[in-house]
Amino acid sequence: MSKSKANIQNGSCPVYKKCGGCQLQNMTYPEQLAFKQKKVERLLKKYCAVKPIIGMENPYHYRNKVQAAFYTDRRGKIISGVYQSGTHHVVGIDSCQTEDETADRIIVAVRKLLPSFKLSTYNEDTGKGFLRHILVKRGFATNQVMLVLVTGTPVFPSKNNFVKAIVKQFPEITTIVQNINNQSTNLVLGNNQKVLYGKGYIEDILCGCKFRISPKSFYQINPVQTEVLYNTAIDYADLRGSETVLDAYCGIGTIGIVAASRGAGSVIGVELNPDAVRDAIVNAKTNELKNIRFFRGDAGEFMQEASQESEKPDIVFMDPPRAGSDEKFLSSLIKMSPERVVYISCNPETLARDLDFLTKHSKYSVKKIQPVDMFPHTSHVETVVLMSKVNTTK
Ligand code: SAH
Repeated sequence: MSKSKANIQNGSCPVYKKCGGCQLQNMTYPEQLAFKQKKVERLLKKYCAVKPIIGMENPYHYRNKVQAAFYTDRRGKIISGVYQSGTHHVVGIDSCQTEDETADRIIVAVRKLLPSFKLSTYNEDTGKGFLRHILVKRGFATNQVMLVLVTGTPVFPSKNNFVKAIVKQFPEITTIVQNINNQSTNLVLGNNQKVLYGKGYIEDILCGCKFRISPKSFYQINPVQTEVLYNTAIDYADLRGSETVLDAYCGIGTIGIVAASRGAGSVIGVELNPDAVRDAIVNAKTNELKNIRFFRGDAGEFMQEASQESEKPDIVFMDPPRAGSDEKFLSSLIKMSPERVVYISCNPETLARDLDFLTKHSKYSVKKIQPVDMFPHTSHVETVVLMSKVNTTK
């Protein structure tokens, strides 16, 4: 038997092939890290030496955000689990080696409660039925848990009793939100939501700062490695205390807030998602930081306007989504000409494309490259890159 086959058979996941989420499960963890190191080196070593990837001590159950899809099979049995990669077929699972174990237990408990409350599952073909998805987010540092029930209809029969029943089983649930999604869409969350229990958000602590997280706001899914990632990014920024910092694609403001708490002179954050910006503003207040402001909008457009103003940032953090940045952003960044750019990327392919543009069209060169394993067992890899102007040593 080949070594990889042995791993799957001895490994914990019976749906490895059907699910497709853990693309590297046939490798041991050290093999996975070597695979990711090579991938980053293949794409980026032409710019600068790639430091050894930082892996996890315990690479299991690291996901603080878990989603499950629901459906009822032909025999009337309710299934909850994940979509098979690239399809709308639900693979039934009760637990997953990457997911938070409390979240998995809550999903199973909700599934078991549905029949006694006569609640159906949503049928994507007919557009009828009730429960479509569940989203659970847990603050690993605070143990606050958010349960989001995504439903096809706004009507929620026996709502109060359902809430009571699930909170009784899981007292750690601090908030429950009903999100209504009756659209034919690949997006899990719809536009309307109602808070059924608690405050409608949870809090977590990262790098000593406290953050509020709403159902729709982006929050890094592996908090243990996020601290490693942010510490690396802040270290690369080499803050001295008087500089202006821009946190582009800032989400709920995490990187900028950590930078401000570690002595940045002043911080500006920009983010497209209005819920995330609202969270970011509250987060700055909660952490008693007065030297930080947030703007809602497209980062590229913001950069274009900001590059025409006289007060320019000394340091830019940029952490775009998988698609990477765009030319509007990158050419305005060049115009702005900050001392250092710290690029945090979850996709080395688009990172390589953007570094190519920056190094060809400006005086920036890549000084440091640090891969971090945020997503063990999957093929994804996160990378922090420090760029500064050619001829500077830092
Ligand atoms: N830095 C944050 C968020 C990174 S994820 C953190 O570490 O948590 C990328 C963020 O970019 C998401 O919050 C997403 O809503 C935002 N985003 C996507 N496209 C954008 C755009 N064109 N302009 C500004 N923000 C954008």
